[in-house]
Amino acid sequence: MQVYWSIELRRLVGGVMVAVIFGFITGYWWAAFLVTALGYVAWLLYKLRQLQLWLVHDFKPDELPDSDGVWEQVVTLINRSRQKSIKRKQKQEEILQRLNNIISALPDAVILFDDDHVIQWSNSTALALMGINGKTDVGQRIDNLLRAPEIAQALTGMDTEEEIQFISPRNAQATLQARILPVERGLWLLNVRDISQRIQLQHTRKAFIANASHELRTPLTVVSGYLELMQEDPEVPAHLVMAIQQSREQTLRMQQIISDMLTLSKLETMERAQIPLRVVDVPEMLKNTSQALTDTLAAQSHTLETHIDAELMIMGVEGELTSAITNLIDNAIKHTPAGTHVIVRWERLNQDYAALTVTDNGPGIPNEHIVHLTERFYRVDTGRSRERGGTGLGLSIVKHVIQNHQGYLSIKSRPGETTFQASFPLIKETKEAEILVNT
Ligand code: ADP
Repeated sequence: MQVYWSIELRRLVGGVMVAVIFGFITGYWWAAFLVTALGYVAWLLYKLRQLQLWLVHDFKPDELPDSDGVWEQVVTLINRSRQKSIKRKQKQEEILQRLNNIISALPDAVILFDDDHVIQWSNSTALALMGINGKTDVGQRIDNLLRAPEIAQALTGMDTEEEIQFISPRNAQATLQARILPVERGLWLLNVRDISQRIQLQHTRKAFIANASHELRTPLTVVSGYLELMQEDPEVPAHLVMAIQQSREQTLRMQQIISDMLTLSKLETMERAQIPLRVVDVPEMLKNTSQALTDTLAAQSHTLETHIDAELMIMGVEGELTSAITNLIDNAIKHTPAGTHVIVRWERLNQDYAALTVTDNGPGIPNEHIVHLTERFYRVDTGRSRERGGTGLGLSIVKHVIQNHQGYLSIKSRPGETTFQASFPLIKETKEAEILVNT
């Protein structure tokens, strides 16, 4: 740095000496100094102009100012920082390109869009899955290109938790699943994947379970029938009586499991839009269920208290609701010790929902089991459940029925109080007796 300034100082001293010589020769000291100073300023301005032109013309190499002293250092420093920023930019572009390649290679489609649903960027999978072209469709609204009503609905709600399923606009056989994710202020990401294979696998699994259950039902009915005959036959040898009785109990249990599996598979596979909803008289249903359970209650010294809003009805599928309600009340009796008090309420929960609440004062369900209770074959105590004739499918059936009725299930338990609450939406104004479910 000192070197550059010493050149500059030498230049200044040279100028002063020239002024002194002129002043000495001519005697016009002030004029000599003024002319020298003006010359120096003019030279500075000229250098500044050169630098300015070089910067304005985007560092054109043939306009690189040739200077020495401080100007040389200024030019060198500018040049160096320019080289650095070029390298940085190249690196950033490389990273961006690599990122682009990675995102493009993802099996998921990725579409970036703004608050107005206008596409900013999309990868090549978006073209394959939905026909959205990352080059030509930028600037278009997503909902203009993806006409699925599910997408339009999701873009209105912008719920980042919601998983949207829709049929691919490119292939009617392909089911796609999408999720909206926030990227930054004003920028969103639509992540779409093809789940056709998963759906196909689920269908195959469900069909297999349904077929297997169906196939097993007939031979079991035959075996059970013969066992019943043998049980009633007074000539059966005494040493076989016990074996026949136990075999019959087990076949009845298997029949119950198969029946529950068939119910479940029907609940899962039935096309909901095809099922007509009717007004269901839940109060009447509860009255009948309570009556049917009188013997069971008495046998276990249980007591049942009911609080039923006799006017409260909902729209639904009667058979499904009977199954769910019976399961919940039956569980409160089946899984609690003798003498338990069970309270059943059917009431308006709020403006939009009616709720069936079944509370018992049994020992309760440990917290860690609660989230698993609606899983198939999940029991807190497998041996005890089997002993009580449980299949482990009851709450799965309850969950599906409630879901199919657009309701929700809540389970709360602590020692001395277990509550299962099934809430169903109230349909306030129904002009027709039949309403089709739109899912
Ligand atoms: P199960 O056929 O065994 O009744 P469910 O799916 O209906 O199967 O219930 C799952 C498990 O949840 C039961 O095995 C039982 O352990 C537990 N459970 C359900 N209801 C109650 C209740 N009211 N009190 C205590 N445990 C319960």
